[in-house]
Amino acid sequence: MRILLVAPPGAGKGTQGALIATHFDVPHIATGDLLRDHVARRTPLGLSVQDCLDRGELVSDEIVLDIVRAEVEAAKAEGRGYVLDGMPRNMTQARAIYQIARTLDMTAQVVLHLVADDDELVRRLLARAALEHRSDDTEEVIRRRLAIYQEVTHPIVEWYDQRGILVAVDAMQSVDRVGRQILTALEAMRPLIKLVPDSARQSIDLTGLGKAFGNH
Ligand code: AMP
Repeated sequence: MRILLVAPPGAGKGTQGALIATHFDVPHIATGDLLRDHVARRTPLGLSVQDCLDRGELVSDEIVLDIVRAEVEAAKAEGRGYVLDGMPRNMTQARAIYQIARTLDMTAQVVLHLVADDDELVRRLLARAALEHRSDDTEEVIRRRLAIYQEVTHPIVEWYDQRGILVAVDAMQSVDRVGRQILTALEAMRPLIKLVPDSARQSIDLTGLGKAFGNH
């Protein structure tokens, strides 16, 4: 199974991504976690992105794409799928990840979208801040991350919907309920995925993605 997880901050991407990865026995590739790990280890890459993470801004497309390319290549080498959490975050990344995956014959079969309203997301993120002390969980940075999500990430969802590979789940429910609904929906899609030949996936028209962002 090859799944992209697109959701606003606080919707439960990390928790549900881990659940999906365990259920389908695929690697959980979480760009935020990978970047935070670099920051914690104070690698050159970590030092270069730390300020962006602290401010809730997106790091450069090139950096995240290099990281994700390596992870998807590793998944392919092991003959496995993936659940990619936190990528794509904008049009450039959506285009690039599709092209990278196509080259590897590893394009996503399902895009899972977790839906939640902003007030609930802010409430959850502030509650998490008290427990985890993440540098980007202050109210000001949370609002900035939600604004970036609405502006540049959410339009991608429409594009995936047009491609017919979108599954949307209401993330306002309890963690357990959301998890159960996700697994039920993905299991229901499993036989359908097998029916779609890779050649059909490869003919997807990328111009619709530009239109979703108002570019023609
Ligand atoms: P997350 O854990 O997914 O909420 O991501 C935390 C932070 O990591 C984001 O606010 C960004 O600064 C950075 N980040 C994670 N994924 C990406 C991505 N695909 N593109 C750019 N920045 C990212």
